[in-house]
Amino acid sequence: MTVRGVVQGVGFRPFVYRLAHEYNLKGWVRNTSGSVDIEVEGSKKSLENFLGALRSQAPPMAHIEAVEVAFDSPKGYTQFQIEPSLSREGQYQLVSPDIATCDDCKKEIFSPADRRFRYPFTNCTNCGPRFTIIEDIPYDRPKTTMHKFKMCPQCRREYNDPQDRRFHAQPNACPKCGPSLELVDGDGKAVDGDVITAASALLKAGKILAIKGLGGFHLACDATSEVAINTLRARKRRQGKPLAVMISTLEEIEKHCLVSPEERKLLQSPQCPIVLLRWKKGSNISPAVAPNLKYLGVMLPYTPLHHLLLNETGLPLVMTSGNISEEPIAKDNDEVLTRLGGIADYFLLHNRDIYARYDDSVYVVEDMPQVLRRARSYAPYPIFLPFKSKQILACGAELKNTFCLTKDEHAFLSQHIGDMENEETLGHFEDTVELYKKLFRIEPEVIAYDMHPEYLATKYALEAGAKAGLKLAPVQHHHAHIVSCMVDNMIEGRVIGVAFDGTGYGIDGNIWGGEFFTADYLGFKRLGHLEYVPLPGGEAAIKKPYRMALGYIYSLLGEDFSLEGLPLRLVPNELELIKQQLRRRINSPLTSSAGRLFDAVSALAGVRQEIDYEAQAAIELEMLAPDEVSAPEFYPFSIVEHQGVRVVRLGELISAVVGDVRNQTPASVISLRFHHTVARMIAEVCKLIAGESGITQVALSGGVFQNRLLLKLAIAALEGQGFNVLSHHLVPCNDGGVSLGQAVIANFARS
Ligand code: ZN
Ligand code: ZN
Ligand code: FE
Repeated sequence: MTVRGVVQGVGFRPFVYRLAHEYNLKGWVRNTSGSVDIEVEGSKKSLENFLGALRSQAPPMAHIEAVEVAFDSPKGYTQFQIEPSLSREGQYQLVSPDIATCDDCKKEIFSPADRRFRYPFTNCTNCGPRFTIIEDIPYDRPKTTMHKFKMCPQCRREYNDPQDRRFHAQPNACPKCGPSLELVDGDGKAVDGDVITAASALLKAGKILAIKGLGGFHLACDATSEVAINTLRARKRRQGKPLAVMISTLEEIEKHCLVSPEERKLLQSPQCPIVLLRWKKGSNISPAVAPNLKYLGVMLPYTPLHHLLLNETGLPLVMTSGNISEEPIAKDNDEVLTRLGGIADYFLLHNRDIYARYDDSVYVVEDMPQVLRRARSYAPYPIFLPFKSKQILACGAELKNTFCLTKDEHAFLSQHIGDMENEETLGHFEDTVELYKKLFRIEPEVIAYDMHPEYLATKYALEAGAKAGLKLAPVQHHHAHIVSCMVDNMIEGRVIGVAFDGTGYGIDGNIWGGEFFTADYLGFKRLGHLEYVPLPGGEAAIKKPYRMALGYIYSLLGEDFSLEGLPLRLVPNELELIKQQLRRRINSPLTSSAGRLFDAVSALAGVRQEIDYEAQAAIELEMLAPDEVSAPEFYPFSIVEHQGVRVVRLGELISAVVGDVRNQTPASVISLRFHHTVARMIAEVCKLIAGESGITQVALSGGVFQNRLLLKLAIAALEGQGFNVLSHHLVPCNDGGVSLGQAVIANFARS
């Protein structure tokens, strides 16, 4: 039998071993670079039972893709054995992501009599680090960062005992032989006493700690202390952006947040992601954790160290990526003291090296789970393709970058790399590309990239592609979004694609972001878009939504339009400058971006004039909308046709919002009306396109669809028109999904 899938590092061989004994079969099992191979002999009945159980009883973290079976004459084996692993040229297999601490291990670290009592590196075949410590395949201890720790006789015994939970658990360790903790201050001087007790006391005293985790450092502090959080924000140079919180148990979480059954399942899953939950009034977690938001990003502890710290502090802890603003997460002991030296007061280190950086994954659930950041415990598990692909490297977009390597039916969508705006993140990108190429034995023949000439990922692609003589495949940003959504739903045919996001390079040289296509893997036709408006000052208009509002007003309602009664931040000189920019079209590129429309309405409604993080104005506008949806109210807009392309005119909408603002209509009402209006826009344009094309399937993609209210309303409006609606689940709708779309489009690109 040849078993393929995630079958290494998940206790699969011990499982096979036990199964063989149970059915009294003789033979062997072994790992190879491409599969787990099994040879068993015994009675026909036993063999059948064995085969059935292989699939039905597989360990929780295993994922069997295929079992190939062949028959041979008996060799006369007298026992069942686990044979040494076999490395086969060019073969590869799926690598297990890291897995949250299992209940058995958790019990041990809290049992005073257990030899692993309070041991922060406890793990077994059902849990612990995997991907972050693997240097190469097959997955065996010498090829992990655990190779420097020699197992003590007791650990060795567990490792060799097929009846033991730690049988062939590669990172197996104990206090005697495994990794250990160290707590140091900013000068690298060790703090005396028991590390966990000391670290917990520091956290309780409001200190900021850099804590080494699975895939990098977290910055941690007391989530109930506004002072600690504001200090962390000031030092990390991260003003408004929400921070994640780790809470000890589900019961504790429920004191702070509403948790649906779906959300509970995901929080407690072996992946243990951050889940955005409805934040309860009366929670004592400081509002400074997520200012102006009604969601709180929450996760349960997922390593023994987390369990011990949360238990000992008795506090919810802020756990945010250990980096300065947009650099990649720090992972090594020596880099952390320099890179996070100005942020953390103390450093909780350990000596198990991290091979791959790995941020926490983020999900939003409510009624349908949707990944927003795909990283820890999901990557490098592939997204499955509905076809067999060439070997391709797709380099992704700029913000929330991921890359994607394809081979066979597998799209290895990388973990979240970060915003590719600096050398450090580019370095992380390059290292991770090399790691994936090595692990999955991929030699790309095509390199795909965004058409935006200034993206670092695009520059990398052009350089790397030229150097290696790869075929180049430029892909339009929103086409990639739509195709990523199609693949997420395993859809091949042709769809109407609605791509709403902040910024993407359009083939007419303008900035796109409110697009209606008909599209498939082979290409797209732009059949509709939001009206073009100038971005006064380019990048400045993105950081300052009031400039965007002025862009809409001056270009759609006229330069003499009165700003009276509007809550826009107006700087006298700037106003004249903006008019000049618009009049002479200086540094004012045209955009059809839906994200910018949200920004402008947010500024007009007095919600946010300047932003600290991407999409903040739109998010805060969404948060204001009431939960109970009354009879929908809409703003006016019109759709005109220009050379076969539908353009949504926005002048009436902006003028109606201005009217509402002048009438002192609450921002919450404006927000809800606006959301209903955008959903109606989407449905109306899709109806027109369907009328011509006959396509009844609509794919919604782009970062704007992280907006849950809009997504829900758009789906309802489209379904009301009889459309079948596709949205994102396993792949982010934001730019984190773009590389997947690029890879698929490149696979089908002619020439
Ligand atoms: Zn375990
Ligand atoms: Zn040991
Ligand atoms: Fe995008």
